[in-house]
Amino acid sequence: MDHTSPEATAGSPPATLTPMMAQFFEIKAVNPGYLLFYRMGDFYELFFEDAEIASAALGIVLTKRGKHLGNDIQMCGVPIHAANDYLNKLVKLGHRVAICEQMEDPKEAKKRGAKSVVHRGVVRLITAGTLTEDDHLDARASNFLAALAMVRHGETDFALAWADVSTGETFTADLAADQLQDELARIQPAELLLTEATRLALVERHLFAPSWTPIAHTAPADSFDSEGAAATLRQAFPDEDFDPSILSRASRAALGAIIAYVRDSQKGVGVALRAPLAETASTFLAIDAATRSSLELHQTQRGQARGSLRQVIDLTVTAPGSRLLSSRLAAPLADARQINERLDAVGLLADDTMLTNRLRADLKSVPDLARALTRLVLERGGPRDLAAIGKAVSAAAALATHIATLPEAPAALARLAATLAAAPLPLASQLALALDDELPLLSRDGGFVRKNYDQMLDDERALATQTRAVVAALQARLIEETDVRSLKIRHNGVLGYFVEVPAAHGTRLLEEPHRQSFIHRQTLANAMRFTTTELADLEGRIARAHEAALDIELRVFASLRYEVLSRTHELRSLADALAEMDVTAALAHLAATRRYTRPEIDNSLAFEIVGGRHPVVEDMVMAEGQSFVANDADLSGDDASGGGRLWLVTGPNMGGKSTFLRQNALIAILAQMGSFVPAGRAHIGVIDRVFSRVGASDDIAHGRSTFMVEMVETAAILNRATRRSLVVLDEIGRGTATFDGLSIAWAAVEALHETTGCRALFATHFHELTSLAKTLSRVANVTMKVREWEGEVVFLHEVGPGAADRSYGIQVARLAGLPEPVLRRARQVLTVLEQRSAGTASSSQKASVLDDLPLFAHQSAPTPLRKDPVLAALDAVRPDEMTPKQAIEALYELKKIRDDARRS
Ligand code: ADP
Ligand code: MG
Repeated sequence: MDHTSPEATAGSPPATLTPMMAQFFEIKAVNPGYLLFYRMGDFYELFFEDAEIASAALGIVLTKRGKHLGNDIQMCGVPIHAANDYLNKLVKLGHRVAICEQMEDPKEAKKRGAKSVVHRGVVRLITAGTLTEDDHLDARASNFLAALAMVRHGETDFALAWADVSTGETFTADLAADQLQDELARIQPAELLLTEATRLALVERHLFAPSWTPIAHTAPADSFDSEGAAATLRQAFPDEDFDPSILSRASRAALGAIIAYVRDSQKGVGVALRAPLAETASTFLAIDAATRSSLELHQTQRGQARGSLRQVIDLTVTAPGSRLLSSRLAAPLADARQINERLDAVGLLADDTMLTNRLRADLKSVPDLARALTRLVLERGGPRDLAAIGKAVSAAAALATHIATLPEAPAALARLAATLAAAPLPLASQLALALDDELPLLSRDGGFVRKNYDQMLDDERALATQTRAVVAALQARLIEETDVRSLKIRHNGVLGYFVEVPAAHGTRLLEEPHRQSFIHRQTLANAMRFTTTELADLEGRIARAHEAALDIELRVFASLRYEVLSRTHELRSLADALAEMDVTAALAHLAATRRYTRPEIDNSLAFEIVGGRHPVVEDMVMAEGQSFVANDADLSGDDASGGGRLWLVTGPNMGGKSTFLRQNALIAILAQMGSFVPAGRAHIGVIDRVFSRVGASDDIAHGRSTFMVEMVETAAILNRATRRSLVVLDEIGRGTATFDGLSIAWAAVEALHETTGCRALFATHFHELTSLAKTLSRVANVTMKVREWEGEVVFLHEVGPGAADRSYGIQVARLAGLPEPVLRRARQVLTVLEQRSAGTASSSQKASVLDDLPLFAHQSAPTPLRKDPVLAALDAVRPDEMTPKQAIEALYELKKIRDDARRS
């Protein structure tokens, strides 16, 4: 997005410009693309096009201020004290803001001449990807700035670098063109930097996803210079043993661009980033963008957190823990050893509920160490950030002692315990000693150093306090002298200390003998204000003591900050360990409280789930007081037989096919992120990629038809799935005519079976497909069981062997409340169509039923399906919680309800 006002900034400003406007244009010209928040007294003001954009975005009044080139200058402003809220709003909308402050006291400027303007300069650029303050950030979400670099040598290579400026975490990955969308869907950056050339190249190749438009910013090509980057990188990560030459040229370029952008945005304060972790795709379970959204891992397809897998499994108690859990869910592992190491740790805690509860109780009060540290590095931290660090450090030590009670901790836990035990306790005690209990946000507000920490500070404070007592004594004496009982010594920001008397007594002080000592300052409607030389003197002393005290406090702050920064490296490892501890304990708690079990993970092609449940649907179904029906799945295969098995799932609409398919994909993802799984038992050979597709999901926003989307996605699976993959296809081929769809689905099953050999679940309403089980050795048919009862279908949500012979579409339509005559007619048509396809309908039968217009003789209003009152009452009965007497009473009650229903 570019918000440069076209002619306002172009060319040299005209001679008629006021000095202030000249300054504005100068600053505006060096910060193109940013809304300029121009400090004027107690306001930030915006001018020209900036003002129009901001007033529209923020819903604030657009006014005028003078003229420029004969036109009104548009202007709007926000008060300083509310600026944060407005900034937040603008940044969320994708705008970027330059904060331009007054760099000197206006009095200084006056000295240079009446017309001179106050020095101003941009102190910070605020963009979605470079935020560090808690009130701009979501505590439980990472906030990534990403840069995409393209390097051409023969082939075109890409690299992505991304960093959470608020915590310092930094990553790089080399990517092929077809991985870009999937990686960005995983990382979900708040801001994406790329050069104009890269953008054009991507657009040309249809690789530029529409969802990138609001976050993409073009950055100058020289910030992506891979040659110069090495030096920049060494400088940015000086004290960590990081060698830029191990990164690819493209990665160096992308990382260099990140650093340049962050440095620019912080205006010289530095770049608090950690040495980058280079990620290689093979260490993670690959989940492409479409699968991510179809499985609703982090948000539902409607974009809500509620109803997503993350929301159900996130039982962490700290914000950093929640962020780590989220990133583990976004990138599960693909290495059996690493997965098992995580599972060992979770398993131990899941068995030891007492320890887990103790850990979780302690973790609950652990502050966000990483973000506090970053703010301190960036000179934006305050006393509360220091205190947060002290608190986190002592909590870490306490946690370590809990774990130390374990006789034999698994490797992952032992490592965590070692890091936690190394927490620099002396630093924590020093901070606790120095900092008061109640702390201001900013150090310049003072009053945060504890009593007895610094003798000189205590002296100055005592002086100020004593002087205040002297002021009180002075008031008593003045009352005595003037005989004005209501005389008061008061204080405000404008006058400082002053003597105030009611207006009626004021004149007395203006006369002898008092006019010698009382100097008139102000007359109000019902009061008069004076000062005395003695009071002015005392005031000076209080102010000096106050200033001296603040000076000392600021020195204390600086030295504590220095202490903290000298341990940056250590503290960051501690922050990581705390987050990991939280995630491990949260997953253990999840396992213990929701009946999740440890999956067996190895390198086989096994996929055997016994009694599997859908974590989210289970949650919803249970909230309604019903129970979820667990189901088995066995897709296990081996190389000798050509790969894994493919289950064709048929069954009525609403029978539970989609739920069954997804629960198996989710179980795999949970297992590989190192979590226990909602199943009685699970054995999974590590999966390299998981694919999940739902047929006929429209993507109108992206301008692709239902069927096109379906086919593009199916193509991606057939081209990319390997023998180690898990493929879940839900009703593929629904978006086109029956025979088209059926043939494509048919061919897709054959290809998955013959060529790919992956483990797969394929739900379909094409019953014809089920005959494939006869010819393809690893294809099996399963169906969702239903029971028909008095013309109605009852869904048992139970998976069993076999194929459904019908869809029960009409029964479902009836449940939905379709009018009875329509249902009757549908049944008629269905019978004929079925006979025709079986070759048993005579042509005259066809003509008579299908060609005649139906006679909807009496179209009654649709009656919504009424639930049988007996069944409703039965649903409410909880046999396990009843005494025998209550059970008998319930039986009588049921009979009574039945009788009542008959009568009415
Ligand atoms: P289909 O894909 O066959 O049309 P769905 O999987 O969408 O069916 O399931 C429809 C509804 O049935 C779900 O929203 C859920 O409420 C319920 N359901 C599905 N599976 C189960 C189950 N195993 N146990 C309990 N309820 C289930
Ligand atoms: Mg379905």
